[in-house]
Amino acid sequence: MSVSTLDDLRLGTRFADVLPELAVRWQAEEAPEPQLVVLNEPLARELGLDPGWLRTEAGVRLLVGADVPEGATPVAQGYAGHQFGGYSPRLGDGRALLLGELAGPDGDLRDLHLKGSGRTPWARGGDGLAALGPMLREHVISEAMHALGIPTTRSLAVVATGRGVHRDQVLPGAVLARVAASHLRVGSFQYARATGDLDLLRRLADHAIERHHPAARAAGLGGAAYLALLEGVAAAQARLVARWVLVGFVHGVMNTDNMTISGESIDYGPCAFLDAYDPSTVFSSIDTGGRYAFRNQPAAAQWNLARLAEALLPLIDDDEERAVAAATAALERFAPAYTEAFTSGAAAKLGLPEGLEQAVVAPLVEDLLGLMAAARVDHTSFWRSLADAARGEAEGVRGVVLDLPGLDAWLERWRALDPDGDAMDRVNPVYVPRNHLVEEALEAATAGDLAPLHRLLDAVTAPYDERPGLAAYAQPGPEGAGPYVTFCGT
Ligand code: AMP
Ligand code: MG
Repeated sequence: MSVSTLDDLRLGTRFADVLPELAVRWQAEEAPEPQLVVLNEPLARELGLDPGWLRTEAGVRLLVGADVPEGATPVAQGYAGHQFGGYSPRLGDGRALLLGELAGPDGDLRDLHLKGSGRTPWARGGDGLAALGPMLREHVISEAMHALGIPTTRSLAVVATGRGVHRDQVLPGAVLARVAASHLRVGSFQYARATGDLDLLRRLADHAIERHHPAARAAGLGGAAYLALLEGVAAAQARLVARWVLVGFVHGVMNTDNMTISGESIDYGPCAFLDAYDPSTVFSSIDTGGRYAFRNQPAAAQWNLARLAEALLPLIDDDEERAVAAATAALERFAPAYTEAFTSGAAAKLGLPEGLEQAVVAPLVEDLLGLMAAARVDHTSFWRSLADAARGEAEGVRGVVLDLPGLDAWLERWRALDPDGDAMDRVNPVYVPRNHLVEEALEAATAGDLAPLHRLLDAVTAPYDERPGLAAYAQPGPEGAGPYVTFCGT
């Protein structure tokens, strides 16, 4: 039975109840003329929501927060964060609201959250709004990530509000309805810790354990459980960032307020996928120092985890020295966990059997990446043509790598391990949301033409199956277009 009226919808208030200090009760700003732009029907069904109802006026009123079911308590969440290394003690949901927690038919709790729903007490100088283009961008990228099997927040819908949003020009405004395992972030812990209220910090940690890392409870009472929470978050982030790097994803704004406790990717602002393989790639207009460059992502994640560890110290041990020693040991496991996740993922991309030793796989991967970087090959299509090479047709890869004797020697080493080309096709995508295609789709959608957006969504939500008619979605962007630049907070 799927939910098809507001009365049938139950939105939990666990976060607001357990952590009132981090929850400001708030209401969405009225959207003058809400119009559904895109609805994620498969996700709606997964959540037990009737897509037909969500398309009605009443459904759309829920999706912009104009109506919420009885008993729901929408809140703007408080959090702090290090942004590009600088600490901001009061960030919080300046333009977002947690409507509540939704228990799907699978029993799992998920946050239903709005972005672009108006100013909140955390808005500082911001207008609380979001433009249609950036919300559709989050829709496309998060659904592509999900289809790639990468843990991520999801987009349920994007609704145009009918309100103009002032950026460098006036743009159509929109609200994104987002679904996440939760919106707890490293910054949530920094905020709680900075209040000096240990009881709040403990309630937050207990809530995080219950929702995301229940195994930490089994580690024991008191400090052991909180140390296990830190280890659980670090392990989840190590796996996550390895997945990003394997697929050529640059998050672009890995501030501590944009790193989840659940291990889901969140906040698709200035993110982008690599075209040319160049580990120093930066897309974000404001990342002038390259802090969040492609190759720096594992280090950035580890830096953020150190901030989480600092926030958790008083829960880990009353004795600060012992707490620091335990937390440091936990953080030291991040690098090997990342390497393990990266190497096993790379072995799969290379079509190699599971269980090969790291000592065999790691140098093979490193040498290949060196050849790829030297020729700045197109990342996505290169991996895909490598599967052809496993099947005996090396012309695709030989056509793009510069150092042919180096490549041939490498191919010989790799083929000796008997790679499986068909297995490679199941893990190396044909279609990712390429930058030029995303821009083209968003520009058309902003002008009222949704056809390119839907075509792009079709391609990237089944990324491993090459299909006729989608050849343009598998091609690199036009040569000489200049470096791609993305923007935050739009
Ligand atoms: P982000 O870069 O999207 O992760 O946002 C960082 C912080 O800025 C968060 O606290 C957001 O809520 C806030 N923020 C971003 N854009 C706006 C806006 N237009 N109005 C109010 N707050 C905003
Ligand atoms: Mg954010």
